[in-house]
Amino acid sequence: MKPSMHPESLMMSYGYKPELSEGAAKPPVFQTSTFVFHSAEEGKAFFELAYGLRKKEQNEEQGLIYSRINNPNLEILEDRLCLWDQAEQCAVFESGMSAISTVLLEFLKPGDLLLYSLPVYGGTDHFITHFLKDIGIESIGFRSDQSKEEIIEMVRQSGRSDKLALIYVESPANPTNDLIDFEMCREIAHHFGTAEKRVYIAADNTYMGPLWSHPLQFGVDLVIYSATKYIGGHSDLIAGAVLGNAEVISRVKTLRTFLGNMASPHTCWLLLRSLETLKVRMEQQARSAQQIAAFLCEHPSVSKVHYLGCLEPSSKSYEIYKRQYESPGAMIAFEIRGGEKEAFRFLNHLRLIKLAVSLGSTESLIQHPATMTHAGLCPELKAKIGITESLIRLSVGVEHPEDLISDISTALDQMLGTKAAFSQQENCTALEISG
Ligand SMILES: *Cc1c(COP(=O)(O)O)cnc(C)c1O
Repeated sequence: MKPSMHPESLMMSYGYKPELSEGAAKPPVFQTSTFVFHSAEEGKAFFELAYGLRKKEQNEEQGLIYSRINNPNLEILEDRLCLWDQAEQCAVFESGMSAISTVLLEFLKPGDLLLYSLPVYGGTDHFITHFLKDIGIESIGFRSDQSKEEIIEMVRQSGRSDKLALIYVESPANPTNDLIDFEMCREIAHHFGTAEKRVYIAADNTYMGPLWSHPLQFGVDLVIYSATKYIGGHSDLIAGAVLGNAEVISRVKTLRTFLGNMASPHTCWLLLRSLETLKVRMEQQARSAQQIAAFLCEHPSVSKVHYLGCLEPSSKSYEIYKRQYESPGAMIAFEIRGGEKEAFRFLNHLRLIKLAVSLGSTESLIQHPATMTHAGLCPELKAKIGITESLIRLSVGVEHPEDLISDISTALDQMLGTKAAFSQQENCTALEISG
């Protein structure tokens, strides 16, 4: 049943019944490994459902058994996450990588072929090109600037097009904000799929977050998040989520039960708290990002800004952006004039913005993809997808945008200047001493 209110109005209440928890206004942390059955018959009935031995009766819900299978904090969180993406079901994991690896393991078997977009998150890239390869799952990567015809030709030339089982994409891509057309993916899936063998599509939507893009509406089967990022939003937890229809999520949840990589009650409880402010946080972050991007576009020491709010209106990316996204989001990448030395000098002179990987948090985070998040990529691939020495990635937080711009502006000036480069550590200490 589709709720009648906006998701942000339901984030404080949906899926939680205070009368089941002594009237507590907020869900307690259900820090328990196991649940007591009223009777042996009830225990039997719960297990029949959990193991798929029979279908659910009308209005029957899966009873609580054991916290690896289900837990109230996990269930409330999954119900609430469904609202943003209008998904039927959700499965929450102990990390974004466990969500991704579980999906890949469930939808690919040895001998299958995977088609995936480039670049993808470093951990995903490693899992695909090392672990999956070692168990006999081959993969083909494609770039956002390749046409549907080119991609289909690549798959055909591999000689294994009948083995294509999954298309995995990341859009907007980390760190360059490259966009992938979901409808094109669906056409490719239809092209190679048959009545007996469907080709599924999975999309990692971490970089945009759940507010302003809903890949399921464009024919994607599974949408994946690192909930560590915008959903968690405070750099204090690691988690992941997968959403889709009942058929795909029940497959994902069954594998999760046996891998045992569900999120803990405490992590779920923290995520429930985070979800209450997801919209206000992200709206502020996107507003500030637009101001910062405008500032960077005008700055003489910046040669290029990769931000969805700055796309050329005649470009293919702009057309995809207009169709699939409702906001440019809060992730910016930009190229400074210079190489690694200048980039490092700029990073070392920031005082407010934290030099750290990860993204989507309340504090602004900045890093150098070529030597940090994407250091593991082979040099040819880095060059092909634009991860150069001059590229900087910025995740905009909720600080005052004027303070963020002033911090960036000062560091860009110092990047060119002759002043000795202080480390960020020294600058932070100076900042604390000065109050
Ligand atoms: C961080 C990230 C991941 C991995 O998530 P973890 O929670 O760190 O395991 C996957 N995809 C993208 C796009 C990410 O940014």
